Amino acid sequence: MIVGIPKEIKTMENRVAMTPGAVGAFVRNGHTVLVERGAGVGSGLRDEEYAAAGARLVSADDAWAAEMVIKVKEPIQQEYKYLRDGLLLFTYLHLAADKPLTEALLESKTTGVAYETVQLDNGALPLLVPMSEVAGRMAPQVGAQCLEKPHGGRGMLLGGVPGVEPAEVVILGGGVVGVNATKIAVGMGARVTVLDVNHSRLQYLDDIFHSRVVTLMSHEANIRAALCKADLVIGAVLIPGAKAPRLVTREMLPCMKPGSVIVDVAVDQGGCVETIKATTHADPTYVVDGVVHYGVANMPGAVPRTSTFALVNQTLPYALSLANKGCKALRDDAPLARGLNTWQGQLTCSGVAEAFGMSC
Ligand code: NAD
Repeated sequence: MIVGIPKEIKTMENRVAMTPGAVGAFVRNGHTVLVERGAGVGSGLRDEEYAAAGARLVSADDAWAAEMVIKVKEPIQQEYKYLRDGLLLFTYLHLAADKPLTEALLESKTTGVAYETVQLDNGALPLLVPMSEVAGRMAPQVGAQCLEKPHGGRGMLLGGVPGVEPAEVVILGGGVVGVNATKIAVGMGARVTVLDVNHSRLQYLDDIFHSRVVTLMSHEANIRAALCKADLVIGAVLIPGAKAPRLVTREMLPCMKPGSVIVDVAVDQGGCVETIKATTHADPTYVVDGVVHYGVANMPGAVPRTSTFALVNQTLPYALSLANKGCKALRDDAPLARGLNTWQGQLTCSGVAEAFGMSC
């Protein structure tokens, strides 16, 4: 198969969908790999490394003309022109929060396989895990920075200092993002409360962090009480393939302290905070009712080298299977088949269909 790797063009996105090592694996399996010139440069991967691995270096148009295109982020408006019947697109799509892209994929009859809905039989989402690990570990880091006065925050240190109390960090959702955020926030010396609706997840967090974190069942009363004492709130909930549930409403914000911070990692699924909107690394924050909001939808893009290698570790086996078997891979591999979101002009992901009141 001819496989294309375009350069990512979303603002400040420096990840790339394949490393030279991964290209080598495709070439050894008999595939032709077209890498857009400069695609890896933001992750510190040079064109010469791709060429040495057997890739052909090409223009954006040529990379997109391949039978299968592997990307990192969902196509943005300028890339819609490349969508077409017969194209197999393997990337993060996040369609439930993006109606224009959903329509563009359906109208063009592109076969869209979304990283984020590839799902193992036990419900795990293997292609979300690496980016969730990165974003989860970044969340307390960016939250700590937002709490600094020059960034609009209340001017406090996450860990406090001897004789001065640390910050209160509230984490909504104790999944992969949540547990990684907890690890770093605890490590930075904050007081951490994690809320989840899944009791066994709360048991797990209680087991691994013991007395270092407070776990709470996630419901409105507990969320409201936790918000009122929080210095930093991290949104980390997920309902697979669907829009994030709105856990923090605008009417709850006035109870939060002036200069407190919300980092809503779930913004890529629409956000779990009513007042969150997607922002970019170039201009990551804004203030509503005195609360600093951080809504960067591609947080791992800020640490592209770590993120690229972490992502490719997980995507490569699925990408190779698609290249080796074409769409037959979707029939043979149930977890991969769950990644199929659009097929010949039809929506094939129930969570996305529900978000838009469409059928699938
Ligand atoms: P996950 O499935 O591992 O965890 C989600 C957790 O949310 C689960 O434990 C679930 O029980 C919990 N949950 C569901 N409904 C809840 C509710 N009402 N209250 C509290 N908890 C609830 O998912 P994850 O990998 O941790 O991802 C979390 C979010 O972060 C997703 O939206 C994902 O797309 C997003 N994400 C964003 C970025 C970014 O750059 N902004 C990067 C990676 C992941």
